[in-house]
Formats: sequence, structure tokens, C-alpha cells
Amino acid sequence: MSGKCEFLDSCGFFRNFKGNSEVIKQGWITLYCENREQSEKCARKKYRKEKGTPPPDNMTPTGKLL
Ligand code: SF4
Repeated sequence: MSGKCEFLDSCGFFRNFKGNSEVIKQGWITLYCENREQSEKCARKKYRKEKGTPPPDNMTPTGKLL
């Protein structure tokens, strides 16, 4: 699978939580952020597209808050 999420550079979750131990443990960056196809299932991306504004930085790609 190639490509990354188009919001990678502007995503507060990626920028601020990519080093978080739980995030690393769950592998969310690899599963979602670095996989363009899978990133379409990211709760943050859906939220952003629906509301026109990014969710809180601590919302994870599954929709749960850290
Ligand atoms: S958390 Fe979601 S919106 Fe943010 S970079 Fe990863 S896949 Fe994209």
C-alpha cells in the first residue's frame, strides 16, 4: 500500500502524539497515517471532513480519546 494521509502535515494527533507510548503500542501511525487507503477510515479524518474543522489533538484514529 503506498501513500500517506493527506492531512499528515497538519494533523495535531500525528504532530503531537506520534511519540506517545500508547500510540506506538497500537501502531496507529503505520496503520492509518502512513497508509492512504486505510486513512480513509480514520475517525479524525471523518470528523474533519464532516465538521470542516479538526478534532482535538488527543482524539485517536479509532475515535477514542487518549
Ligand atoms: S490521525 Fe488520521 S487524519 Fe491524522 S494523519 Fe493520521 S490518518 Fe490522517
